[in-house]
Amino acid sequence: MMLIVDCIDCAAEDSVVNAVIDGINAALSIASVRRPWVMISVNDDREDVHFRKAEFNAEDCPLDCSRPCEKVCPANAISLENTSVGHESTRSDKSTLQGGVITERCYGCGRCFPVCPYDKIRAMTYIRDPAATSELLRRNDVDAIEIHTSGRRTDLFNDLWNSLSNSIGHVKLVAVSLPDVGESTVGLMNLLYSIMEADLQSYNLWQLDGRPMSGDIGRGATREAIAFAARLASRQEKPHGFYQLAGGTNSQTVDSLKSMGLFKAMTIPGHLRGQAAVATSASSQQALIGGIAYGGYARKIVGRVLSRMVTKHGLLQIEDHPEFLLKALREALKLVGPVKSYNLAS
Ligand code: SF4
Ligand code: SF4
Repeated sequence: MMLIVDCIDCAAEDSVVNAVIDGINAALSIASVRRPWVMISVNDDREDVHFRKAEFNAEDCPLDCSRPCEKVCPANAISLENTSVGHESTRSDKSTLQGGVITERCYGCGRCFPVCPYDKIRAMTYIRDPAATSELLRRNDVDAIEIHTSGRRTDLFNDLWNSLSNSIGHVKLVAVSLPDVGESTVGLMNLLYSIMEADLQSYNLWQLDGRPMSGDIGRGATREAIAFAARLASRQEKPHGFYQLAGGTNSQTVDSLKSMGLFKAMTIPGHLRGQAAVATSASSQQALIGGIAYGGYARKIVGRVLSRMVTKHGLLQIEDHPEFLLKALREALKLVGPVKSYNLAS
C-alpha cells in the first residue's frame, strides 16, 4: 500500500506513531518506495465518533446471551469466554462471562451498541491532550495533522488551534475533517479557515466525511460521501485548500467520482517542505476531489489476508511470509491504484 499512498493516518499517541514508523521502515527494507507522510489525528470535542471506544463488563452479561456483539465487530475487538469461578466461601462454582472489549483493537465504529439485547455496551469518548499533540508535532517523523470537528463548537476548534499554534509550523499538511452540515457547510469551512489562516505555513486539506466508518458495510456506503462532494462542487465560492473524501469510501468511490466528473488527478512532487506546487489535472470544471482516505474498507480487505495468514501460521509478521504479503499488496493496489491511475497488471 505504501508504494502509492501519500499519507498514513494514525492515533496521536507515541506508541502508535512508533508502530507506524516501524511498519514504514519494514516496507522500505523490502522495496525502494517513497516514504509516505505520517499524519496524527485529533479531535476538538467529545462528540466525534472517531474518538470513542466500546466498553462493558462481561461479568454483567447473562450467560445465555448469544453474544451478537462478538459476531458484529469488524475488528475482532470483542472476545468473551464462559469460565467457572470457584467460591471457597460458599464451596460452589459460579459461571460468568470473562473478557470484553480489546481496547487497542476497538476503533469505535459503534456496530456493537445497538445489537446488545441487554443494553450493556457504553461508548467511552476521549479527547487528545493538546500538550501531548504539540510534542508529537515536533517529532521529525510526524508530517501532518488531521483535526476532526463536528462543526458544532467552533470555539473548541479555536481553543485547540490556539493550543497547537506553536507547533503547527512543524508539519507539512493540516487536514480538517468535517461532516456535511447542509447549507452552512461552506460558511463553517470559511470560519475554520479564518481561525487557521494566520498560523498556516503548510498545505491545507478538507476531508469531507460522508458517513463515518462505514466503507466496509456495503457498496452503497459511499453514496453520502459522493453526494457531499457533489454539493460542495456545485458551489461557486469554496474555501482555499485541497479536498478529499472519507467516511464510507470503498472500491466504488473513485469510479463514482470519475463518472460524475468530480475527480481531479493529483500528485505531490516529492515530500519535502517548500517543494514545487501540487500538480493537478482536472477532468471537468466540477472536479474537486483530489484524494481519498480509506479506512474500514482497507482494513477489511487487508485484514482478510492477515486472518488467513494467522490461521495458517499463527501470529507472525507478514513480511516473513511473502505469499501473504503479495496477496495483501494486490488487494491494496486494486483499491488505491485507480486513485493514482496505476493499472494492476494481471
Ligand atoms: S465499537 Fe466497533 S470496533 Fe469497537 S468493539 Fe464495537 S463493533 Fe468492535
Ligand atoms: S451482546 Fe450484550 S449482553 Fe450479550 S455478551 Fe455482548 S455485551 Fe454482553
